[in-house]
Amino acid sequence: METSYDVIVIGGGVVGCAVARELSAYDLKIALLEKATDICAGQSRANTAIIHGGYDAKPGTLKAYYNVKGNGMFDEICGELDVPHEWNTSLVVSFGPDEDPQIDELYERGLKNGVPGLEIIDHDEIMRREPNINPEAHRALLVNNGGIVCPYELTTAYAENASINGVTFFRSTPVTNIFKENGSWIVETPSARFSAKAVVNCAGIFSDEIHNMVSADKLEIQARKGEYYLVDKKYASTFHAAIFQVPSAMGKGILVARTVDGTVLLGPTAEDIDDKTEKRTTAEGLAKALAGARRTWPNLPGRAFITEFTGLRAHCTRNEFIIGEAADAPLFFDAAGVESPGLTSAPAIGKDLAKMVSEALHAAPNAKFNPIRKGIPKFRELSNERRAELIAQNPDFSKVICRCETVTEAEIREAIRRPVGAVNVDGIKIRTRAGMGRCQAGFCTPRTLEILSEELGVPLETLLKSEPGSRYVYGKIFD
Ligand SMILES: Cc1cc2nc3c(=O)[nH]c(=O)nc-3n(C[C@H](O)[C@H](O)[C@H](O)COP(=O)(O)OP(=O)(O)OC[C@H]3O[C@@H](n4cnc5c(N)ncnc54)[C@H](O)[C@@H]3O)c2cc1C
Repeated sequence: METSYDVIVIGGGVVGCAVARELSAYDLKIALLEKATDICAGQSRANTAIIHGGYDAKPGTLKAYYNVKGNGMFDEICGELDVPHEWNTSLVVSFGPDEDPQIDELYERGLKNGVPGLEIIDHDEIMRREPNINPEAHRALLVNNGGIVCPYELTTAYAENASINGVTFFRSTPVTNIFKENGSWIVETPSARFSAKAVVNCAGIFSDEIHNMVSADKLEIQARKGEYYLVDKKYASTFHAAIFQVPSAMGKGILVARTVDGTVLLGPTAEDIDDKTEKRTTAEGLAKALAGARRTWPNLPGRAFITEFTGLRAHCTRNEFIIGEAADAPLFFDAAGVESPGLTSAPAIGKDLAKMVSEALHAAPNAKFNPIRKGIPKFRELSNERRAELIAQNPDFSKVICRCETVTEAEIREAIRRPVGAVNVDGIKIRTRAGMGRCQAGFCTPRTLEILSEELGVPLETLLKSEPGSRYVYGKIFD
C-alpha cells in the first residue's frame, strides 16, 4: 500500500523536527520518517549543547549565516516550545601569547559574521570571571551571545508541536530508496511505500546516502567521532561560561561546558572514522578528552565523572552545510552535512526550508497552526506548594522513580502518552532525565520498564533500551 503526502521529511533529529514543525504552519499533509526506534537518535542526542555565538564559521558560508540567524531565534523558539536555555556566555581562551593571534582572528571573523557583543578580555578579567580556570589563561574572546540549551528537549518539543499541528511521525522506518514516478517522489521503506510532492533530506550522517539516491551531484559525509566525559552536577558552579580552547582544523577543540541540567561536559575529541555506526568510547579518546579538559580545569577531580559517551559529527567533505533544493532534482530539498553549529542553526534552517518548500508547493498558511507547546512538569524544579498541588491532582507525582534526578511516575507516564511519546527506556531518559543522574539508571530501570510495559500494553520481554538488540528482559528465572 502507498500513502500520499505533500511533503516527506527524512530524519527525526533537531533539524528534521524543526523543518516538520515549521512546515506544519502551512496547509500541507506532512510525514516524517525516522530510521531509529525514536526521534533524536543521531547527532542531536550526543553533542555539546552550546548555542554558538557565530564567531567560528568562515564568513560568507551557510554555516556562518545559519549560526548567527539561528542564535537570534532561541529566545522566541524556546519560549514557544517551553525548552530550557541559558545565555551563560562562551569564552575562547588562549593559554599563552602564541595562541593569541587565533583569538584576534576569531574576533575579526565574528565581526564579519555580524555577531553582536564580542569582546577580547585579558588574564585579569578571565580570572575574575572564572576563578577556577588554569591561571595560565592569557587572553580570551568573550562571546556574550553564547548560550546552552537542552538538545533533546528542543528536538522532542519540535516533534510534539509538529505532531499537534498535523505532522504524522513514522519511527523505525528507514528510507531505503527514492525515485520519481508519474511526477511524484516515491519513498521506499521496508514496511511501507510513500509518495510525496516534495522530500526534505535531514538524515544527518546519512544525508549523503539519501541525497545520492536522487542527484548526480554526489555528496560525501565523513563521520567525525567526538568522545566526552560527563561530570557530576556537584561541579556545576565550577565555571559560569562554556570554556573553549583555540580551535583546530578538525573543530572547535576540547571544551568544558555546563549543561542546562547542571552536569558538566568535557570534550569532544575529533577523529575521522569509516564506520558511521561506531559509537563506542575508547580509552585513547577519553584520555585525550581528559588531558584537554585538564588544560582548562587543572584541578578537575579524578572521580568527578558519571559517564562517558560518543557523538558522531556529519562532516560534509565540502566543509559546508548543504541547504536547499538539489539542482538536478526538483522538489528534493537537502539539509545535509549539518554538523556543528547545526543545533544552533536548526531553528533558522527549519524556517528557511519550510519557506522554500511551501513556496514551491504554493501552500497557504495553516489557519489552525498553534506554535505553543508546554513541557512535562519537572518535579525537581518546583516549589513545595506547586508539588503539593500536582500531587493532589495526580498521586503519581508523589512516586519518585529516578532518585538521582527526582523524576516521578507521573512525568514518566506523561512522556509515554505525549504525541511522538517515548517507546523505550532511552526515550524516557531524554524526555524526563530519568536515568541520567549519578547512578546512571541503576535503580530506576526496572520500574521504568514496568511503566513502559503497562502504558504501551506490551510484555516486558519486548522492551528495548534503544535500538533492536538492546532488550533488558529475556524471561523469568522464577515465578
Ligand atoms: C560531538 C558533537 C558536538 C556538537 N556540538 C554542537 C554544539 O555544541 N552546538 C551546535 O550548535 N551544534 C553542535 N553539534 C552539531 C549538532 O548536534 C548537529 O548539527 C545537529 O544535531 C544535526 O541535526 P540533524 O537533525 O541534521 O541530524 P541528526 O540529529 O543526526 O538526525 C538525523 C536523523 O536521521 C535519521 N536517519 C538517517 N538515515 C535515515 C534513513 N535512511 N531513513 C530515515 N531516517 C534516517 C537518523 O536516525 C537521525 O535520527 C555537535 C555535533 C556533534 C556530533
